[in-house]
Amino acid sequence: MSEAECIFCKIVRGEIETEVMHDEDEVLVFEDIRGRAPVHVLVIPKQHVASLEEITKLPAPVVRRLFEVSSMVAEKLGVRESGYAVRINNGSDAGQEVFHLHLHVLGGKRLGMP
Ligand code: 5GP
Ligand code: ZN
Repeated sequence: MSEAECIFCKIVRGEIETEVMHDEDEVLVFEDIRGRAPVHVLVIPKQHVASLEEITKLPAPVVRRLFEVSSMVAEKLGVRESGYAVRINNGSDAGQEVFHLHLHVLGGKRLGMP
C-alpha cells in the first residue's frame, strides 16, 4: 500500500480525524477507533514503515522513541502502576490490518496472552 492510500499516513497528514493523544516531530499517538481495553492507543512513527521487516528504514532514535512515548502515554493515561501491554501485530497470523507499523498500548484491565 502506498503512503497516499495508507490510513495512518492520512491520520498523520490530518486527512482523517482522530483523537490525538500526543504529537511530536517523529511520533504520533491516537486512540484506537475500536478500543479493546479501557486504555487502547496506537503509537506510530510518522514515517511510513509497513512492518517490522522494514524497521531499518527508521532512524534508530525514532525506534527508541516509539518505546519511550509508549511508556510516557501509559503514565499519562494512568496505567503505569497497574501495568499495560505494548503489542505489535506483524503479518497475517498476528491479525495485522494496517500496514503502517504501530504499537498498541493496552491497559486498564487484566490482559492475558492469546
Ligand atoms: P492491527 O490489527 O493492524 O495491529 O491494528 C490496526 C488497528 O487500527 C486496529 O485496532 C483498528 O481498530 C485501528 N484502526 C483502523 N482504522 C482506524 C482509523 O481510521 N482510526 C483509528 N483511530 N484507528 C483505526
Ligand atoms: Zn503509512
